[in-house]
Amino acid sequence: MGNGRSGQSGQPVRRIPVSEPSLSGNEEKYVLECISTNWISSLGKFIPEFEGGFAGFCGSKYGVAVMNGTVALQLALAALGIKEGDEVIIPDLTFVATANAVRYLGAKPVFVDSEPATWNIDAGKIESAVTKKTKAIIPVHLYGHPCDMDVIMEVAEKHSLSVIEDAAEAHGAEYKGKRVGSIGSIGCFSFYGNKIITTGEGGMCVTSDAKLAERMHFLKDHAMDKVRKYWHPELGYNFRMTNIQAAVGVAQLEQIDKFIAAKIRNAKLYRTLLQNVKGLAFQPQMTWAKSVYWMHSVLVDEKEFGCSRDALILGLKEKGVDSRPFFCPMHQLPPYKGSGSDKDFPVAAQLSRAGINLPSSVRLSESDIRFVCDAIRSIQK
Ligand SMILES: *Cc1c(COP(=O)(O)O)cnc(C)c1O
Repeated sequence: MGNGRSGQSGQPVRRIPVSEPSLSGNEEKYVLECISTNWISSLGKFIPEFEGGFAGFCGSKYGVAVMNGTVALQLALAALGIKEGDEVIIPDLTFVATANAVRYLGAKPVFVDSEPATWNIDAGKIESAVTKKTKAIIPVHLYGHPCDMDVIMEVAEKHSLSVIEDAAEAHGAEYKGKRVGSIGSIGCFSFYGNKIITTGEGGMCVTSDAKLAERMHFLKDHAMDKVRKYWHPELGYNFRMTNIQAAVGVAQLEQIDKFIAAKIRNAKLYRTLLQNVKGLAFQPQMTWAKSVYWMHSVLVDEKEFGCSRDALILGLKEKGVDSRPFFCPMHQLPPYKGSGSDKDFPVAAQLSRAGINLPSSVRLSESDIRFVCDAIRSIQK
């Protein structure tokens, strides 16, 4: 992949996207195998292979493959018995799916501010959000950096709360040597096109609790009785993943160590190349964490950097470099109106205002990253 980004007219000919999948392993071979053997729906050998393989990768015993990361969260909440009237504590700064999954069950997401040290939920502020209605906590390992799980597990134990890890952005990240997703009762992952590994659309719940695994398998498949066909003792869902998606997943899983190594290498390169640029701050890394750097992200200090976050995004776009702003904090979104103001969530609000995700694909070459960093420097005033 050369650096052929400038056409004869001087216009950029190749855009550097924020994220694109890498499908150069056995993806094609395994997908063709699904088609030639006729196993294209949600039965077939790749499903259990992907479930077992990915759960093992996380250090969990069981995997339950589903259609996407959002329903993985919904299924986990349903399996834990979360229902109308319950409250579930989640970070204010996350992707909207975390909050929506809680709402789909009729429960109420309760938001907690982020901490500046990791950009994750401020574990020290969780306890003050606990009420009689609180049933669970969903920590989100934002942009690939693990949450401070010891503190979270301690609060959960003290108040008898379930912990569901939203690890949709953190496949393979480690907290004190443990893989994320294996620390709470259930870990939820997404395999959307821009995640660490992808199945196009897809998701998985992992757990080491045999009963929870069985419950999730039951609920995701229309809650059909195992013995008595077409007997559905309760309201279930169809959240099944197809064998074709799982085939892509198995091929992706074969390459996950390589992908994570590329993310880490690229994170180092970005940090080295931008270290002297004033007004940019990277996501801090805790000594107890192994981040997988899902997104290479920086905060833009407008005064120090010399232009606003939004002006930087536009400037990069003109040079053929895609980037994007951080998520909106949940309290600002119309479906969650009334849950608080920027004053209640000052850290999340500030991160959201200043944050930008830079190109983060595992396919980026060193010259791509140099090009992005040169572009950033040239925009700086
Ligand atoms: C991507 C993501 C999800 C949802 O995954 P989908 O597969 O897109 O449904 C949930 N939570 C977080 C934090 C995510 O980044």
